[in-house]
Amino acid sequence: MTLTSSALTAPRYLITDMDGVLWRGQEPMPGLVEFFRFLRAENVRFVCATNNASTLAEKLAERLQGWGADVTPDEIVTSSTATADYLATILPQGSRLYVVGMEGLRAPLRDRGFKIAEQDVAAAANVAAAADVAAVVVGIDWNVTYNQLKQAALLIRRGAKFIGTNSDRTFPSPEGIIPGAGALLALIETATDVKPIVIGKPEPVLYEMSLKRMNAVPGQTLVLGDRLETDILGAVRLNLKSALVLSGVTTREELTHSDYQPDWVFDDISDLIKNWAMINAQFTMHNS
Ligand SMILES: [Mg+2]
Repeated sequence: MTLTSSALTAPRYLITDMDGVLWRGQEPMPGLVEFFRFLRAENVRFVCATNNASTLAEKLAERLQGWGADVTPDEIVTSSTATADYLATILPQGSRLYVVGMEGLRAPLRDRGFKIAEQDVAAAANVAAAADVAAVVVGIDWNVTYNQLKQAALLIRRGAKFIGTNSDRTFPSPEGIIPGAGALLALIETATDVKPIVIGKPEPVLYEMSLKRMNAVPGQTLVLGDRLETDILGAVRLNLKSALVLSGVTTREELTHSDYQPDWVFDDISDLIKNWAMINAQFTMHNS
């Protein structure tokens, strides 16, 4: 190894989760503004990557900016924008899609030039239109109806690809644990015997699209998250270095029982910044 190799192998790219890392509930995490200031000062390129498919990247950026953090919409990858980026790599430009999902999913699909099919495209009178639908895309939708699920199942049975934004089975809400996108995917899978291609963590596509967004070198990229079975497992599967923060869902206790592990564990983002020099040094060692 040469003397300059440390600068080459230290993390130059960061993929960070949002909920439980950058904020908790309605409150920003302590040290949030300093965290992004630090990344800019160190010339670490970053994206904030979330399985959330219901909120526009612009809205998430506004939320962070409202707390004083310097983050642009281009630096946010949701499972919706990753779905749109992924579909653009496998379908012809302008393909028609049937969507179960909210504006946070529909807008990025339209932005990539996809056409979104009418509600009842799979109805008996509409066979030609149905044949024209290349893929059914399913994300969380608080207003989903039986008819939409029926349309989705009919189209998949006729050969449309089945894509899911994320497989989170449940979603924490003030009322308690409620069905998430994964529950909708399970319903349609049960009705069609077709397994969806899932985009969100821990499947690889969200991280692959995040790397692509930054033009990142995987060996120089650090993944940061608070949930072992999504954030960290996704990183492990792609052989990316990862750090877990204990400011969200995963506890140190859960960590001891897991058969896969992050490379580093910190209390929160402030603790991570304090230990950046150590990460740098160990990153070099791991890669030498
Ligand atoms: Mg999280």
